[in-house]
Amino acid sequence: MLPAMQKIPLMDYVGRPLLACIFLALLWLQWRFPLRCQHFNVLHRLVRNFVLSIPGFAIVRLAMLPIPIAIAMWARDQHIGLLNWVVLPGWVAGIATFLLMDYAYWWWHWANHMVPLFWRFHNVHHTDLDLDVSTAARFHFGEMFFSIGFLSLAVLVFGVGPIMLVVFFIALEAATLFHHSNWRLPIKVERVLNLILVTPRMHGIHHSIVQRETNSNWGTIFCWWDKLHRTLRCDVPQDAITIGVAAYREEDELTLGQLFALPFRKQRAWRLPSGEFPEREARPAAKLAE
Ligand SMILES: [Zn+2]
Repeated sequence: MLPAMQKIPLMDYVGRPLLACIFLALLWLQWRFPLRCQHFNVLHRLVRNFVLSIPGFAIVRLAMLPIPIAIAMWARDQHIGLLNWVVLPGWVAGIATFLLMDYAYWWWHWANHMVPLFWRFHNVHHTDLDLDVSTAARFHFGEMFFSIGFLSLAVLVFGVGPIMLVVFFIALEAATLFHHSNWRLPIKVERVLNLILVTPRMHGIHHSIVQRETNSNWGTIFCWWDKLHRTLRCDVPQDAITIGVAAYREEDELTLGQLFALPFRKQRAWRLPSGEFPEREARPAAKLAE
């Protein structure tokens, strides 16, 4: 049997139903308690993001998990990778996996913005003109292929165990759903959560049309890596943010066909169609703005 066809019970029977429940809960929460006001038709975006994500879902299940899991098993048997060299109690290995992998994903997200080839694909995710939980699924399948390479390398270097890999992956997906959602948490609650986690307001700033704001808040699960690299921005109130990529603001230029083709076309410079360069002065902020 092809490795891709093998069952991954933890993902198939626990991860996927759990993520589906989280998705539905966030869908309800963002409808009931919206954070930013939405400017475009919610149903159109939901359908578009869903259809765009179908090849991505298939790739995750058939390759993104099976390939790194096979590598994790091989690395464990061959005694390769950081966590396979040291003997640690299970819970310490679990915490180490989360910290190492989440930090690696911080670098991977950074690379998706900084390496022109990767940005072509990641751009598709950022062109969403509103931001909500459906944006979490809006990834071009090309980005998924590069991700498989990154994840496989990280698993090999860190010697992540196969079970821990699946547990981490489920947490990564749950965090991605959460921080893309348009759920207005009470600001005090979000500020406390934001001492540890990437939250919807923090990630909202990452989806701003102001390039300096997009080039910040690269974290996925934990917010600490952005603090470490001084790339954390929390001074922008959500109602001041325009979501999207400056040069891609026309809804009829962002149809499904055009989104699939976007990475293979000439990329536009980060400017508004008027030629303007969106800017906003950075203000020192001790707390996450409302
Ligand atoms: Zn990004």
